[in-house]
Amino acid sequence: MSNLRFKMVETAFGKKPSPVSVPDGRTSDYFGMYVFNREKMFRYLPAKVFAQLTDVIDTGSALDRSIADEVAAGMKKWAVEMGATHYTHWFAPLTEGTAEKHDSFIEHDGKGGVIEEFSGKLLVQQEPDASSFPSGGIRNTFEARGYSAWDPSSPAFIVDDTLCIPTIFIAYTGESLDYKAPLLKALRAVDKAATDVCRYFNPDVRKVYAYLGWEQEYFLVDEGLYAARPDLLLTGRTLMGHDSAKNQQLEDHYFGAIPSRVTAFMKELEIEALKLGIPLKTRHNEVAPNQFELAPVYEECNLANDHNMLIMSLMRKIARNHGFRVLLHEKPFKGINGSGKHNNWSLGTDTGLALMSPGKDFSSNLRFVTFVVNTLMAVYRHNGLLKASIISASNAHRLGANEAPPAIISSFLGAQLSAVLHHIEESEDESFQTLSGKKGMKLDIPQIPEILVDNTDRNRTSPFAFTGNRFEFRAVGSEANCASAMIVLNAALAEQLTEFKAAVDKRIASGEEKDRAILSEIRKCIKICKPIHFDGNGYSEEWKAEAARRGLDCETSVPVIYDSYLTEDSVSMFEKTGVMTRKELEARNGVKWETYTKKIQIEARVLGDLAMNHIVPVATGYQSSLLDNVHKMHEIFPKEKADAMTVRNMELIEEISEHTAFIKGHVDSMTEARKIANRIEDEREKAIAYHDTVFPALDEIRYHIDKLELIVDDRIWTLPKYRELLFIR
Ligand code: ADP
Ligand code: MG
Repeated sequence: MSNLRFKMVETAFGKKPSPVSVPDGRTSDYFGMYVFNREKMFRYLPAKVFAQLTDVIDTGSALDRSIADEVAAGMKKWAVEMGATHYTHWFAPLTEGTAEKHDSFIEHDGKGGVIEEFSGKLLVQQEPDASSFPSGGIRNTFEARGYSAWDPSSPAFIVDDTLCIPTIFIAYTGESLDYKAPLLKALRAVDKAATDVCRYFNPDVRKVYAYLGWEQEYFLVDEGLYAARPDLLLTGRTLMGHDSAKNQQLEDHYFGAIPSRVTAFMKELEIEALKLGIPLKTRHNEVAPNQFELAPVYEECNLANDHNMLIMSLMRKIARNHGFRVLLHEKPFKGINGSGKHNNWSLGTDTGLALMSPGKDFSSNLRFVTFVVNTLMAVYRHNGLLKASIISASNAHRLGANEAPPAIISSFLGAQLSAVLHHIEESEDESFQTLSGKKGMKLDIPQIPEILVDNTDRNRTSPFAFTGNRFEFRAVGSEANCASAMIVLNAALAEQLTEFKAAVDKRIASGEEKDRAILSEIRKCIKICKPIHFDGNGYSEEWKAEAARRGLDCETSVPVIYDSYLTEDSVSMFEKTGVMTRKELEARNGVKWETYTKKIQIEARVLGDLAMNHIVPVATGYQSSLLDNVHKMHEIFPKEKADAMTVRNMELIEEISEHTAFIKGHVDSMTEARKIANRIEDEREKAIAYHDTVFPALDEIRYHIDKLELIVDDRIWTLPKYRELLFIR
């Protein structure tokens, strides 16, 4: 083992778990202590302002600018008492992370000193120097600056010494340049459409919330080893590395005992997350070695999403306190499980009804079936777009690979729900009586709760599975901003529910009884969206062929998948629901293509560099020592004997020459392909060129490097190997 590697591994082995200081009292005592939540609003705001602000939060009514100053003053008072000296607008631009620019509270006091100041104006709106955030050309002109604007529905919080204010980020011309703005619009659209439909059943419903419970998967790698892998450092994944002799084949990691150093990390992360009001609940080992998962209790979608963004940055920070680096990339290691972020999603009303849960009587079950079937319709109609919402250069390694959902969106319903839908479909009008429980028991919707409780046949291969009281969108990548998927899902459902309502109303207007009208429309939908329903093995080759026959989107090229955002169906859906305009969609696709190109470009550069500066010299050095050995053998022994004794070394010498020649050749042609692609002006065409001509070279080069890793003397191999990266903790 090389000196560098040896040193790194030694520090890793010697690492003791860092002590974690646990706050006094129960979890509920410190939960949310760094959040300007209702309890603090109540304490720090005048009663009238408190009432107005909570109304804005609860009902989504417009914020009266005149209260902003008082809110800001209360927030500042609390923050300064908590030791904060700075504030920032905290937003999610079209990159993967969050952005923040810290300003201190101080202003001149006019007497030569300073005072802490924070005005309503600063709370409500700011103009970050945003010229370097991606905008897809929207801010190309000198006029088009961007500004951030306060989102009162997500509470402010303190990280270290800074008060963070969740904000949207938009161009001066109004287009959104972030994830939050369209997410809020999609949530508003689904609220409106779902409330309207809900009122068929429960006239007192005033608001429908979308809920999100994410499950975050991740890897931990020893910090020393991470630092010795330039590919991990620069691209987030290993671009080379032969399989470890042992990896996940014993299936001994999933739900296994958590190593103590990892436990210490998790403990500190949980405490910090709870203080920030993130209700973390679950932690366990995942399938792959050194892979783990954490999940909170589900929350309102916008808040849950902010919490996910926050937890990702907390994880990165806290991992370093424990000598780890956290890998959020969807596929950091070839040949073993990748990381996803299941998005558990459902709808609920302000009156406490869970719309994706079956109820106890005919009406609540008709409501349940209405929402499930409309969801299936939305997913069916926009399956290509949903895939586009979760695909990225990194998630593409996970989708379609053998342990992950395939690059086709379908929905698993389970035997019981499938049977219910099948019955509704088959039962023509005659059995409406049956459904309402008045005659016969062929299909008694009131029985649904019992049958779903037993719904244990969970299908791990489905990208969009019904799991008893919610849908689980499993194709979302571990590194992604969940908002991308949530925007499409909620907007698509809003469109579908609106059309459903119009169709039902039309039937009612022509004299049909309400429940009968609803059921007739449901029956129609079940028939139309049938192709999206698939309960079989989503990883099988047969399914790919079957999905193509059904007309589902089977495209696998990332840049081409993004086209789904710009089809007429998609643009019309986004415009009708008021979530995004064509101009915004075009700009955002520009950003997606550009990001894709850059990611592949960086990987290609890093691999080219590693191949030529690390791998080839090391392999050639080892080859020289073999040659030396062969020479010396021939000096000492008679030729025939020496020949026999050096047969294996001679073979190795040749093998090394072949591999290094391949590597050099492929690196050269990859560089050439890059040069050609770089000359393309159009972002889409360029991304396609990178996908078609540069990306495949990465695996070809890797193949030969991984072969060399098996041959070359371990002592001189400079890069930590999979067995070290995956098993040291
Ligand atoms: P698993 O899918 O691994 O069995 P859990 O049952 O622990 O996971 O739930 C995963 C996530 O789903 C959690 O965040 C949980 O709060 C969330 N969840 C549970 N019920 C709902 C629901 N009705 N709507 C949205 N999310 C939910
Ligand atoms: Mg799950």
